[in-house]
Amino acid sequence: MSQYHIDTNCIHAGYTPGDGEPRVVPIVQSTTYKYDHAETLGKLFDLEQDGFFYTRLANPTLDAVEKKIAALEGGVGALLTSSGQAASLISVLNICRAGGHVVCSSAIYGGTFNLFYKTMHEMGIDFTFVSPESTEEELNAAFQPNTRCVFAETLSNPALIVTDLELFAKVAHAHGLPLIVDNTFATPINCRPFEFGADIVIHSTTKYMDGHAVQVGGAIVDSGKFDWNNGKFPEFTEPDESYHGVVYCKQFGNAAYIAKARAHLMRDLGAQASPQNAFLLNLGLETLALRMERHCSNALKVASFLEQDDRIAWVNYPGLKSSKYYDLAQKYMPNGTCGVISFGIKGGREAAAKFMESLKLASIVVHVADLRTCVLHPASTTHRQLTDEQLVEGGISADMIRMSVGIENPEDILDDIKQALAQV
Ligand SMILES: *Cc1c(COP(=O)(O)O)cnc(C)c1O
Repeated sequence: MSQYHIDTNCIHAGYTPGDGEPRVVPIVQSTTYKYDHAETLGKLFDLEQDGFFYTRLANPTLDAVEKKIAALEGGVGALLTSSGQAASLISVLNICRAGGHVVCSSAIYGGTFNLFYKTMHEMGIDFTFVSPESTEEELNAAFQPNTRCVFAETLSNPALIVTDLELFAKVAHAHGLPLIVDNTFATPINCRPFEFGADIVIHSTTKYMDGHAVQVGGAIVDSGKFDWNNGKFPEFTEPDESYHGVVYCKQFGNAAYIAKARAHLMRDLGAQASPQNAFLLNLGLETLALRMERHCSNALKVASFLEQDDRIAWVNYPGLKSSKYYDLAQKYMPNGTCGVISFGIKGGREAAAKFMESLKLASIVVHVADLRTCVLHPASTTHRQLTDEQLVEGGISADMIRMSVGIENPEDILDDIKQALAQV
């Protein structure tokens, strides 16, 4: 499918029906698959033959959507997971066990931070959090003999910081380690991290990829470019006794990472996506390119309007020339960043609350990145237990409003913002 452009691949990649077969990716709502010979099943179990035998490991609906996402990112394979959280967990656990260490950008999603800082730390994995603006020397200083990978977000949620992917990849590779990038906010439409040196990409497909707020899901994509044979990753070059001695690098070549994530961790953890959710995700993916274009142009209009309005204290959107991340955004996401912006209203916490309650089209929800414009005031919702001082420490100001700009008509979104500002 690589001969087509990415917007065509959004629609067609991953599934080519045969004669008389369903035109649309069908929902295969079956846990199990029938075989005529026990021997075939044995070969499937030993990973000697490709095929479906149990939906925890593989399912035809999931398979089609995995192939589509792999094509969009330009990878050799993908694995759907039950959530973005499961994708983050499995992507690291696949190459890092107790006693291991990860160098991680501090500009990451709060849920990922909790997973790493608390749960995976309690599992015996250590994380060193580095500033996303670290220099090469500062990044190098974070590595330890037991470091297994580097983790960052293309465009961070919610701070909207653009990571210098080439620098992070260069430093990771100098240590013989892979770079894992969470590409949820940019999506492959706006950034393909493999082109800048990333080795593994993960997604919360719950956000733009689905785009309609109907399913929670995740994905892991393997670039197929990292050399697991460099002496640091015996899990790929030595036999896995739990699979009759399979050696992932030998059996799966440059798709060893994603094969192990499925065969080892999906088998053991069981965080697979459901066929129904994969079907819904696929519907979202079909229009991803169109939607991202509109999300970005709408968000730029809203950010530009807010920036010139006296009642607004500050605006943070990497698509604005005034943003300190504008140049990095132009380099990594020249066609647009995402639909999420954050801004502050003069008058602090109270003014922010009044503004939000006055919105009529935009609704107050916790979700981001779907086609309906929505807002969240972290200080009075997700972070309401914190004092103004604690909020500042957490990088959240009392007046901060996060707006996920949808794909409605931009005039209607702007009119709604204008009438709400007039109420403040
Ligand atoms: C939402 C999100 C996640 C977690 O995904 P879930 O699907 O909610 O589990 C991970 N990373 C980023 C950047 C996110 O926005």
